[in-house]
This record gives sequence, C-alpha cells and structure tokens, in this order.
Amino acid sequence: MSEKIEFVKCLIIGSGPAGYTAAIYASRANMSPVLYQGTQPGGQLTTTNDVENFPGYPDGITGPEMMIELQSQAKRFGTDVRDGWVTSVDFSGKIHKLWINNNKEIHCETVIISTGASAKYLGLPSEQKYLELGGGVSACAVCDGFFYKNQEVVIVGAGDSACEEAHYLSKLCSKVTMLVRRDVFRASKIMANRVINTSNIEILFNTETHEVIGDGQVVTGVKFINNLTNKISEIPATGFFVAIGHKPNTEIFKEFLDLDDTGYIINKPGTSKTNIDGVFVSGDAADHVYRQAVTAAGTGCMAALDAERYLASLE
Ligand code: NDP
Repeated sequence: MSEKIEFVKCLIIGSGPAGYTAAIYASRANMSPVLYQGTQPGGQLTTTNDVENFPGYPDGITGPEMMIELQSQAKRFGTDVRDGWVTSVDFSGKIHKLWINNNKEIHCETVIISTGASAKYLGLPSEQKYLELGGGVSACAVCDGFFYKNQEVVIVGAGDSACEEAHYLSKLCSKVTMLVRRDVFRASKIMANRVINTSNIEILFNTETHEVIGDGQVVTGVKFINNLTNKISEIPATGFFVAIGHKPNTEIFKEFLDLDDTGYIINKPGTSKTNIDGVFVSGDAADHVYRQAVTAAGTGCMAALDAERYLASLE
C-alpha cells in the first residue's frame, strides 16, 4: 500500500556537491527543498580520501568530511535531507511526479536532478580491495594524482579520458604505464598523439590487468597479461588509475528527458534547464567534460536559481 501523496515545491535528487549546493541556495530562497540522498549518500566524493583542489580548504579535507559539512550547511537553512532514492518519475504533466523507494509518491513544482555519474571499474577483486582501503586505486587522476608525485603509476583505458589523465599524471609522476586492451586507441588522434609523444608515458597495447598487487594496505605493483601471447608480467607501481569511462545515473529519466547517446542529460546551453519545464539538472549527470566537485557545485547553484525564477514565473 503506498503512502499518502506529498506536495513539494522543490525536490532535489542526489547528495553530492551539486545537490547540496542546490539545496543551500534553494533553502535560502525559501523554496523549502526536500533532498533525497540516493543510494550513495555524499556521492562520488565519499570514495575520495583527500580533496585538495576545492577552493576554501587550504589544508585539504577528506571527501566524506566535506560532504558532512555541505550537508550541515544545507540543513542549517532548512533543507529537509532524507534517506531514500527516487525509483521512478513521471514528467508528463505540469506537476512532476516521483516515487521514492517504489512506494512513496511525491508531487513537485520543481525538480533538480543531481544524480551524478559513477566511474566504471574493472571489477577485479584486488582492484576493489585497494579501492575500499583507499590504498592506491583511483578513478580520478585530477583528484588523486598529486599523491603520486615522483612515483610510478599505471593507468588503464584508451579513450580521451585515459589519454587526458595519463598526460596529467605524466607531469607529476616519474613514470606512467598505460594498459590498452586493443592494439589501437579509442581516443581522438590529437589526444592519443599527446601520450605517444610524452617521454615518461609507456604504452602497452593488447594488455589487460590481471591483478593489482600490494602489501595488504597499499598498492605496490600491477600484474598484466598480454592477450595475444597470454604472457603475464609485473611492474612496480604505487598508484593504479582506472579511466574506462563513467556512467551517468540517468536511467530513470530516459523516458522524459533528452539524453545524449551516452546517457548524459542535455541541458539548454548556459543554463540548468532540461527539455521539461520545471526540471533542472546539475553536476555530472549532465557533464562528461569537467566532472569536478567545484564545477558540480557551480551548476547546483545555477539549478537552484533557475528553479527559483521558474517558480516566480508561475506566480
Ligand atoms: P570511452 O568510452 O570513450 O573510452 C573508454 C575506454 O576504456 C576505451 O578505450 C575502452 O577500450 C576502455 N575500456 C573499457 N572497458 C575496459 C576494460 N574492462 N578493460 C580495459 N579497458 C577498457 O570513455 P572516456 O571516459 O574516455 O570518454 C567518454 C566521452 O567523453 C567520450 O566521448 C570522450 O571523447 C569525451 N571526453 C572528451 C575529452 C576532451 O575532449 N577533452 C576528455 C575526456 C572525455 P576499447 O577502446 O577497447 O573499447
């Protein structure tokens, strides 16, 4: 039996920097926002150890601590932060309908989508072990590369992201080894050429990760297999970077919102507006280019301001 329908002026979906920034602005504008945290409260940053590139934290802060601070800031102005995730939506009418945990129905005047994206991982048990330990596995070179200054690292992937991140790492690390599973890059020529022409990047084609090795606490090397010869080799490394793509968390919206062919929500240029009036998007759910906490926070602010103006236009 479903619960009674609740009416909400502004519903925010997601609890990363985009969602909480939208919540801070929306609550300060008296929009009485309700925020559902989703399946990973705090978002992708909760899987990062130290955040050193978010302005305003000169000594850095851990990802989980930063998310707690953002949550308290949103609550301080009255955001109703709730557990639960949105399981389906109906954006076909003027009032937007959403269901929480397949049960509770909410009707909203405005919706701010901040559901983010999830980095893809290889799924190897050894990779997951050191990821969970915070011991040297990362899916974000810009976030974590600094911790591997003058060290040797391995990066997996052959798309534009892998090339961009390998190049970024090459400026910090003494050596970057790129494991490419086919004999070609997927990346654009210009990006591929950039890594090919960088002297401290070694590219190993037809190569797949066999195992991330470590001392039980941190990564110490990577075993890889040549998929033509089946030969297994090992290289020392203190960091293992995975750059095999991201998946935006937008599945439940695809019936109503315009998505690009990789699933990212298409926003109207320079705004947070989607193709549905009253539905706004912020953060990585619409951004496959920048994907930073600070850019997500910026678009969260935009979404709250756009939602406020939309509500004013209805009055
Ligand atoms: P892509 O999907 O383009 O590339 C993913 C890469 O990971 C592919 O090379 C793929 O290999 C490899 N891969 C996937 N699964 C595995 C696996 N299990 N083991 C080993 N390798 C694997 O993702 P990106 O994140 O690179 O890019 C996403 C989009 O964002 C693209 O459109 C890209 O152009 C764009 N982008 C643009 C940038 C820019 O212009 N500055 C920067 C970053 C991204 P295979 O090739 O064999 O399938």
